[in-house]
Order: sequence, then C-alpha cells, then structure tokens
Amino acid sequence: VTVVEATKACLERIKALDETYNCFVTVDEAGALAQAEAIQAKIDSGELTGPLAGVPVAIKDNMCINGMLTSCSSKILSNFVPTYTATAVEKLQEAGAVIIGKTNMDEFAMGSTTETSYYGVTRNPWDTDKVPGGSSGGSAAAVAAEEIPYALGSDTGGSIRQPAAFCGVTGIKPTYGRVSRYGLIAYGSSLDQIGPLAKDVTDCATILEAICKHDDKDSTSYAQAEDDFTSALVDDVKGMKIGIPRDYFAEGIDEDVKTAVLAAAKKLEDKGAIVEEFDLGMVEYAIPAYYIIASAEASSNLERFDGVKYGYRTAEYRDLHNMYKKTRSEGFGAEVKRRIMLGSFVLSSGYYDAYYVKALKTKALIKKAFDDAFAKYDVILGPVAPTTALKMGESLSDPIKMYLGDIYTVSVNLAGLPGISLPCGQDKDGMPVGMQLLGQTFDEKSIIRAAYAFE
Ligand code: GLN
Repeated sequence: VTVVEATKACLERIKALDETYNCFVTVDEAGALAQAEAIQAKIDSGELTGPLAGVPVAIKDNMCINGMLTSCSSKILSNFVPTYTATAVEKLQEAGAVIIGKTNMDEFAMGSTTETSYYGVTRNPWDTDKVPGGSSGGSAAAVAAEEIPYALGSDTGGSIRQPAAFCGVTGIKPTYGRVSRYGLIAYGSSLDQIGPLAKDVTDCATILEAICKHDDKDSTSYAQAEDDFTSALVDDVKGMKIGIPRDYFAEGIDEDVKTAVLAAAKKLEDKGAIVEEFDLGMVEYAIPAYYIIASAEASSNLERFDGVKYGYRTAEYRDLHNMYKKTRSEGFGAEVKRRIMLGSFVLSSGYYDAYYVKALKTKALIKKAFDDAFAKYDVILGPVAPTTALKMGESLSDPIKMYLGDIYTVSVNLAGLPGISLPCGQDKDGMPVGMQLLGQTFDEKSIIRAAYAFE
C-alpha cells in the first residue's frame, strides 16, 4: 500500500465509525493527505526509511501541534491553536508519521473514563455502553476500533495504561524523564509522561524508540533518553525474576481480573521465569498521596488559563478580576474545578505541611518500597485496574469511586517508574482485562522483554 492509500483507509474508517465512538476531537483530512504525499515522495527518493515511515498516527489532544486545535478537551482551550509542536510529536514527524488528528480525553487529563471531555464521551468499541477508560480514552479506543494503527497518550497516574487495559490494547508509560514533555500541556509536571498506545508490544517498543531523545527544551529530560528498545523483543524470560505484589490482589479486585492476571503470571513461569509473591507495602497510601500531589501541581499549572493570552474569554465582564473569574468559571468543567480547589487547599499556608509535605514524604516511601522490591525482582507483575471497563456514568456521580480505581497505576508515577499495560484475557462479559509489568527506572527493556514473551 502507498502512504496515501493507508491514510485514506484510516480516514474512511474514522468516517464510518467515529460518529459512534467519538475518539477524535479533530480530524485533519486535508493536512493528512498532503503529509502523505510528501512522505511518499521522501520514501521513494530513499530520504525516509524506517518502520514508522508513512504510518498514520493520532495524538492525544493535550500535545501541541503547530497550526492544529489543541484543546485538552476543555472549553477553555476550545479555540487554542498553538504555534509550535511538542517534541514527541516532532520525533514522530521526523520518523515519517502521518498525523491524522487529535484524540479525545478527560478534560486536562483529569479522570479515568473520558467522560469529562467538553467534546462528549468516547465509547468503548467493545461495548458502547461502557467507558474506554481515561484519560487517554480517545487514543485507546481509536486503536481498538482500528481507526488508527497507533496513538500517543499521556500518563500522569495511569492515563495510558488504564485505557489500554479497558480497550484491549497495549500501552507504555515510560520512566519519568524518558520522553520530552515539551509541548505537552502540563497536568502534574512531576508525574506526566508521554507514551505510545498500539496493538502490540512490538509496535509500542518501536514507537517508544522513535520518541525518546534528550531534549534541551525540557529540564527534566534525561541525558541518555535514547535506547534500543526493540532489541528487547526476544521471546526469552528464562531466569527472569518476577514479583507479584500480594497487596495488589487483596480486597476490591474483581475475581475475573485476578484470575486472568494470575494466569498470565503462570504462563511466564511456564516459560522459565522465576515468579514469587511478595508484600510491596504502602499500597493504601498511593491514592491519597497521588491526588494531593497531582492536584497541587494542577492548581499551579492551570493558573495560566485566565482568558488573557490565549483560549476562551468570557463575553461580558466588569473589570479584570471579574473577567478572570467568569472566564475560569465558564471555561473549566466540574472535575477540573474540584482539582484546582483541592490543590489550592493543600498548598495554602497552614495546610501545606499537613497535606502537601506529608504527601511528598509518602511519595518518597512509595519509591523506597519499589526500590526494595527491585533489589529482588527484575519486574513486578500485577493488574492495571481492579475492574474491567465501567458502565457509562457510573463514576461521574461518585468521584471518590473513580479515584479508587487508580490504586494500581498512580504509585508508578509517584516513583517515576516505567510500566507496560497489555491484554491478558477477558471477563465473563467478554470485556478485556489488562495486566501491568513494572520495571526499575530506565529499565523499559525488561518490561518489554517480559511483555513480548507473554504475548
Ligand atoms: N485518573 C487519574 C487522574 O484523574 C490519572 C489521570 C492521568 O494519568 N492523566 O488524575
């Protein structure tokens, strides 16, 4: 197939299905076809080679692309067209990717269901009455529905891994610092990472290899960010030590999820891995620490959306203060406001030590619990979420319930670790179950190796 043919095939698939699934906020048909022709010419002349050359991609709508609406699925950015491109996206462009458009998400990446988007919910292609997970739900559902071969997502507390699990696709949250955050609209800057969502481990490793590069424009970018992740695609886990945290299978987990994930561990054991249960510890502190730190950072990061420099501005106002107030009241949705208020509270004088500082100390202890585990194990295997995809609306009315669903994903971000989420079975209703493999910082290769051997 030519690049134009591949691009047209995606565009047609999107036209046929996306009215139902609503994975996309923006589809840039004309732009994609123009890119496709230019890329084809470069492939023909030999200027462009490599596995991603000419392959269409979709980008989560919190990554800036020069000239393309970048809304974060929020009303407040519903008219924001950046004049620059996120580094991770630029790396894909250099590899010859055809950018088809931008995918739907929870507003400002706050959520686990993609229901808080200003552009409406995304539906799970496996069952349209169910959520696709979130916040990168549009990216995961678009891959699952085969509207696109792969997509980029971002993961602050599970937003790549959990929607991947709910939609039966594969996703990687890289080590903090591995992928440049330049051009990613910040949610929790100390936690955010960009990563791939695709149909399998091979595709994810290939994409990761393309987007990892040190970047001077991100002060937290790792100097040796590059790695040959695809060299880890070997079907061999003999002697690999895999730890199963007992605390991840305690109360609250669905029986079907537990069974599928433990069967996956057994499969790796049969292939020669040394599998052992252990007590990770600190698990019950992950959610409170995460929601305090993420909200604190969000409250600061989202200060910039004030209607002055860019984005939505309220139509009528009395004075500057009234303009700020009305713009932000009208521009942000309920979940985002809740986080801004929580974050402002935990950072305010008198509460700072009791909440924010305490959460930072908890974060250090969580990191230590993982360090202790990685002294014994090469990778940790567990579930991605306690349940499979929830029914639409179920968690909207009960945010605490939604937060609790993040129990297995958020500590990975607090500790800065890499994690891969991949399908490992189905529940009794036929919905996909995901498993998660976690590695030591900058050891993406071990989790890729284990995941590839499992697959
Ligand atoms: N569900 C989590 C939250 O709402 C994680 C989101 C994310 O990783 N962006 O904060």
